[in-house]
Amino acid sequence: MLGRQTFATINLKALQHNFSVMSQCALGSNTIAVIKADAYGHGAQQVAQALASQAKVFAVAFIDEALALREQGITQAILLLEGVMSEDEMACAKQHNFWVMLHSVEHFSWLRALEKNQRPVFWIKVDSGMHRLGISLQDADVVLKANQDLIQPDTVLCSHLACADELQNSLNLKQMGILRDLAKAYNLPLSMANSAGIANWPDTHAKWNRLGIALYGCAQPADAKAGLLPVMSLHAPIIGLRNIGVGESVGYAQSWTATRPTTIATLAIGYADGYPRHAKTGTPAWIHGQRISLVGRVSMDMITLDVTDLPQVQIGDSVELWGENILVEEVALNASSISYELLTRISPRVKRRYIK
Ligand SMILES: *Cc1c(COP(=O)(O)O)cnc(C)c1O
Repeated sequence: MLGRQTFATINLKALQHNFSVMSQCALGSNTIAVIKADAYGHGAQQVAQALASQAKVFAVAFIDEALALREQGITQAILLLEGVMSEDEMACAKQHNFWVMLHSVEHFSWLRALEKNQRPVFWIKVDSGMHRLGISLQDADVVLKANQDLIQPDTVLCSHLACADELQNSLNLKQMGILRDLAKAYNLPLSMANSAGIANWPDTHAKWNRLGIALYGCAQPADAKAGLLPVMSLHAPIIGLRNIGVGESVGYAQSWTATRPTTIATLAIGYADGYPRHAKTGTPAWIHGQRISLVGRVSMDMITLDVTDLPQVQIGDSVELWGENILVEEVALNASSISYELLTRISPRVKRRYIK
């Protein structure tokens, strides 16, 4: 055995299970698998391959991510959620069967500048209330009217929910109403729902839904599990064990001090691996069937945990930081973060292991 035994294990069966659970939540819709940011840190190539027989279309944020997937042999259509940055990219999109999100007036002129048979499949994004990307409502009628000749049977009207994880927030149905009215006026199919829309807001289901975080087993809000399985498990080995007395402190800045004689386990993982630096004392981990707690500050390469109540622990034992027993959502909550951020930040020095 050579090398540090710090691993992110990716369970591709759980991924396939989650795709099918979430697709069944919206039987009248097509489900696009969102695999931007290296499939939320899970490895876009492996994830795309694992979903090959289930997902007809993938989505990434920008063209570099899509080109990398083509080099890796992925052949499905790929939706570019942020669209393209130039006329050249618009032409490139057609060559590679990338679907382009048009979200400003300029994008329509880039499309128009291409020969008819050189134009990629495109979606039109309108800003229904998130105010991040999309044609504004004031401009939507003018832009849609001026470009009606470009519209094809596969053109989709798209928008993004700002608060789909908030079960009481009335913005969700307001946004959907706005998109529906526009779609009706121009006779276009729709796409609105992300994972939380699929799970919580059936009224937002449409021709295409965009499935991201739930594919990886995380629910929004975290208590709405609906049969999802965690896909990533993060494990690191114990590389040090010591006993300290009452009043002695652990780690940088002495941020935690023992109030009982304590056994400290030091693990080979830190913020340079993507374990969140702001995880606070008390953040759970899992070993020998029990929860244990982080104590003191997260270092670059190491963390420290209180294992006083587990006399059987040994150097080399593997600890789950998140996975089947400790949900990444719970760790995120303890780090004032969200599952998305923790998953996407696992760094390249953590080895990936795939379960097929
Ligand atoms: C990332 C993204 C999604 C997926 O969102 P989840 O909350 O992860 O399901 C959907 N649509 C757009 C535009 C996105 O950027």
